[in-house]
Amino acid sequence: MASITLKNLVKKYGDGFPAVNDVSLDIADGEFIILVGPSGCGKSTLLRMIVGLEDITSGDLLINGERVNDKAPRDRNLAMVFQNYALYPHLTVFENIAFPLRLNKGKYSDDQVRKLVHEAADTLELTEHLDRKPGNLSGGQRQRVAMGRAIVRQADAFLFDEPLSNLDAKLRGQMRSEISQMQRRLGVTSVYVTHDQTEAMTLGDRVAVLKKGILQQVASPRELYEQP
Ligand code: ADP
Ligand code: ADP
Repeated sequence: MASITLKNLVKKYGDGFPAVNDVSLDIADGEFIILVGPSGCGKSTLLRMIVGLEDITSGDLLINGERVNDKAPRDRNLAMVFQNYALYPHLTVFENIAFPLRLNKGKYSDDQVRKLVHEAADTLELTEHLDRKPGNLSGGQRQRVAMGRAIVRQADAFLFDEPLSNLDAKLRGQMRSEISQMQRRLGVTSVYVTHDQTEAMTLGDRVAVLKKGILQQVASPRELYEQP
């Protein structure tokens, strides 16, 4: 698990107005923080800077107190959980969860892979579905497989980029509670990007509000709700 510290982070694309403008934020170990704001305010850019997919123009990014600006994504041990699940339809749930371990050829024996996948499946209540293919699963189960991939690597933090934005309202509601329960059960540091007010107000411990690249406010959902 990890704390994540953003210190005066700036991202400029070309000569334009910064997409992320002097953002400072302390994310505590185990915290579930929501990044909210209108389309184009810099949410994805900030998330991609944290995970290492986007260069940092200036400022510092610390994970557990260590500066990681120049570390490759694979050396940051953070796991992105994607919107479309990015599951392999031709692979079983077991192989989908095992996938990140198989990429690391030689590092894990078959026994270790089996053990880690079974532990993740147990946590996510997917054990009885391990032999199925993603096409035969519900939306909620598929989301859990996607999270299984993050868990199996024992990532320090989960980063969610609008994971529910393409779902219909009913499924979105169901998945909201699944994600919230799972995050609390695992207690893993999570940064969750959304432009959906309901998700922002119900999911996280704190909400960070971005506007035109600038961090406007960081508060608990309750504090935000009680504002005039
Ligand atoms: P959000 O995720 O909140 O919708 P983004 O982080 O995608 O916002 O975008 C923030 C700003 O940066 C927008 O003005 C967007 O057009 C710009 N932007 C994002 N990615 C790029 C890029 N690769 N090149 C140039 N401008 C970009
Ligand atoms: P979102 O609003 O979900 O961030 P966008 O449609 O803004 O999605 O961006 C989709 C992709 O296009 C992202 O990878 C982003 O970095 C890139 N992008 C966004 N704006 C620009 C831009 N002005 N120039 C180049 N790439 C951009």
